[in-house]
Amino acid sequence: MRINSDNHPTSVFDRHFKITCPHCLTSTNITAVSIPRYELVSRFELRKVGVCYMCNNCKEPVFLRFEAARVDPSNIQIVENTVEEVELPKVTFELNYLPLEVAEAFDEALTCYSNQCYNAFAAMCRRTAQSMFVELGAEGKTRVEAQLDEVKEPAGIDEETYQMLKQIILSGHDGAHPHLPKVNIERAVILLELMKDVLYQLFIRSAKIREATELRRQEIAQKKTEN
Ligand SMILES: [Zn+2]
Repeated sequence: MRINSDNHPTSVFDRHFKITCPHCLTSTNITAVSIPRYELVSRFELRKVGVCYMCNNCKEPVFLRFEAARVDPSNIQIVENTVEEVELPKVTFELNYLPLEVAEAFDEALTCYSNQCYNAFAAMCRRTAQSMFVELGAEGKTRVEAQLDEVKEPAGIDEETYQMLKQIILSGHDGAHPHLPKVNIERAVILLELMKDVLYQLFIRSAKIREATELRRQEIAQKKTEN
């Protein structure tokens, strides 16, 4: 893509990117709606530029960042393979079925994960686990550990990774302990799935059954009053 001295937008318009929209979470094409102006990029000698696109599905703005390089006096190249999404889609989860403290901690963990801050994500997972222990009472830690052990085999997690992630979730008291093992993207992906499974099995499943039972009870009560 190029920014020409006449600011003609064709080369940017004609290059299509497909992303998962951070607003509507749909996998969709985006269309450029705001393109850096040649004279400003030249004047400030910008090495990086942003292009604002619209999501073709929900029309919300989506920003992409690129490196810029001068090709000749009338052309600045936008280097396509340096593309970075400025705002990433947030991983979602059924937080409304969780106790408030657990939901708030895990919501923040998901924000860290979505922004690729994997060590902050791990620290917030630990904090989520501590809130779970408080909610679940005396048996909390044992139940979480049992659930982790249960999912290890079917998920095919290797022993080293498993022990390391288990240490993050179960050990210590400080949510942001400086001696927490370092978490990269590969480990963060597994940690996310472990946390989702534990939260689902220990909170959400029973909350959904309770909700369904309550709905059924209300339906029956309603029918009785109608008769
Ligand atoms: Zn969208």
